[in-house]
Amino acid sequence: PVPVLAVVGRPNVGKSTLVNRILGRREAVVEDIPGVTRDRVSYDAEWNGRAFTVVDTGGWDPDARGLAERIAAQAEIAVSLADATLFVVDATVGITDADEEVVKILRKSGKPVVLAANKVDDERTEAEAYGLWNLGLGEPYPVSALHGRGSGDLLDAVLAVL
Ligand code: GDP
Ligand code: MG
Repeated sequence: PVPVLAVVGRPNVGKSTLVNRILGRREAVVEDIPGVTRDRVSYDAEWNGRAFTVVDTGGWDPDARGLAERIAAQAEIAVSLADATLFVVDATVGITDADEEVVKILRKSGKPVVLAANKVDDERTEAEAYGLWNLGLGEPYPVSALHGRGSGDLLDAVLAVL
């Protein structure tokens, strides 16, 4: 059986865009309206000749009450089904309460986590990724899911724990 990677994080941080970057094709639904991906969608992926399953998550109504708890609850399900997690944070926004809730779930799982500092589209934005060390999940990997910047290093880090 191939290993499973869960991609979790708040709505609109770029999870589906990053999944498409990993797949090398446009398959995961990307929306300017947050929360469009329904729950969990699995895709067959490959990097450096290794096959794995990548699970995109989503499906939260961003205006719902208790959003942070809902995101965390979804993350808990996805993580329980996965071998490792790719936690996506919007580096241009920084750490939110919802991010902190997800971190608790990730810690509890005891499974490996790779932290993607997304939306680092250029060098100027790179510094904003350093603030994500404060999540206590180790090194944040600066990446631009949109442009592909940093995605090779990120995937190498993912495969190293998967
Ligand atoms: P999801 O809700 O976490 O799956 O986020 P999406 O992948 O649907 O992306 C939400 C929005 O962020 C879309 O408008 C994307 O084009 C945008 N986005 C995603 N990744 C990046 C990135 O690396 N840089 C920038 N500037 N925008 C991004
Ligand atoms: Mg999505």
